[in-house]
Amino acid sequence: MGKYEAVIGLEVHAQLHTVSKLFSGDATNFNALPNQHVGPITLGHPGTLPKMNKKAVELAIKMGLVCGCEISTNNYFARKNYFYADLPKGFQISQHTTPICRGGLVHINTTNGSRDIQLTRIHLEEDAGKSIHDQDDALTLLDFNRAGMPLIEIVSEPDMHSSEEAAAYLTQIRKLVRWIGVCDGNMEEGSLRCDANISVRPVGSRTLGTRVEVKNLNSIKHLRHAVEIEIERLTALSEKGETILQETRSYDADAGITFSIRTKEDAEDYRYFPEPDLAPFQFTEQYIGELKNQIPLLPAELSNKFINEYGLSSYDAEQLTDEKELCDLYEEVARHTIYKKQLANILLGPLKSLLNQSSTQWNSIHISTTHWNELLILIAEGTINFSMAAQKILPRMMADPAVTPTVLIQQLDLVQDADADQLQGWAKQALDAMPDKVMAYKKGKKGLIGLFVGEVKKYSKGKADPKQVTAILESLLHQ
Ligand code: ADP
Ligand code: MG
Repeated sequence: MGKYEAVIGLEVHAQLHTVSKLFSGDATNFNALPNQHVGPITLGHPGTLPKMNKKAVELAIKMGLVCGCEISTNNYFARKNYFYADLPKGFQISQHTTPICRGGLVHINTTNGSRDIQLTRIHLEEDAGKSIHDQDDALTLLDFNRAGMPLIEIVSEPDMHSSEEAAAYLTQIRKLVRWIGVCDGNMEEGSLRCDANISVRPVGSRTLGTRVEVKNLNSIKHLRHAVEIEIERLTALSEKGETILQETRSYDADAGITFSIRTKEDAEDYRYFPEPDLAPFQFTEQYIGELKNQIPLLPAELSNKFINEYGLSSYDAEQLTDEKELCDLYEEVARHTIYKKQLANILLGPLKSLLNQSSTQWNSIHISTTHWNELLILIAEGTINFSMAAQKILPRMMADPAVTPTVLIQQLDLVQDADADQLQGWAKQALDAMPDKVMAYKKGKKGLIGLFVGEVKKYSKGKADPKQVTAILESLLHQ
């Protein structure tokens, strides 16, 4: 450590969120039977002609716009020729020297602060089919559902220097593609996958070292681990003065290793040439402007709004803008209540854990803004305390969104008991029951107040307001 610096560039493939494939009407849904969506164009039958999917082009441009790329107004596709069993046409339609987006950046946050990672390009291409080697002892099985799926490949500059930065970069890309609806970001299903290029060089050197490329990393955890393994391996080789071979490697998650699959000597010549079956395509500035207008406010913009206009902490704002559905819910309700901080507390605390417990999504919450606001007012006015609202009322509001929180509180007999005499009685009863604890408190163990408050809450069946109880107990204890 210390003598060498790691350099990392990532190639991220994102499957575009379209109904049909890039050059045919075949469907794109993931949970289809093998070879269910394989029309003649997908299978490359003679005489078939590709037809471009406009929606895919739109999504690629949108991703370029949110990354601040320059959008190319003149475009064409290129044929990348190679032979493989899962590539029925014998070539892949991609973009070579004319990517649809150039330059741009992705903003990341790490423990060392935040920085911009430079992008080289984003281009459009079709996916290949899938070879399945582990279902039959003797045969390789082929599933062409994936062949022709629309992809963008997002290529970064060799601009990252640690596994943490690489992981933060992929996390940010996943968040962005989901936010703007470009890709579902589902790495387990392969909608988002990553190849990591890694090299090391002496600290201070400006030239790049020889890189290795680890293919097909399908989770952020795997990316992080594979990069760590390679940095360590390449650093050790460099320290021993050994030559590093440019090679392509694979990551084995179970064994926790990477292994070589081919070296640069085997590199193929893809004989790229402009795809003759598809016309070049152009965009006007006006068309790009229209797409720009369709892009929703981005997480960073909303986070600033929550901090500056709603007075939330940056931690809360960060959490609320982590997922689009959560953020939409918060924004919608926040517009109809003055209790914006308390609303954030409910969503990020009890509601989030209720949803986690039942594996439910944010967009399955159907509580009206009026009912949310009513609940927040009931808490603010002390009619019900926060924990009762969270534990008892919230689940009922979720299950039965038609009933108002006021009615629910009455039904469950949860109106906070503000009768000071009764609280005073319970407080005395609690203290009398624990004379030794009272003594300890008086000698300085002030933390015991929580225990006393808990006792009184038990007597009140949870209805007592903890703030009021604390005040009463403190006055009794200081007598
Ligand atoms: P290919 O398509 O053959 O993999 P590219 O030259 O387009 O090749 O590079 C792909 C990725 O590799 C890019 O993200 C780039 O930033 C990264 N890269 C290139 N050279 C290096 C290097 N020496 N060290 C680390 N990453 C590199
Ligand atoms: Mg590559």
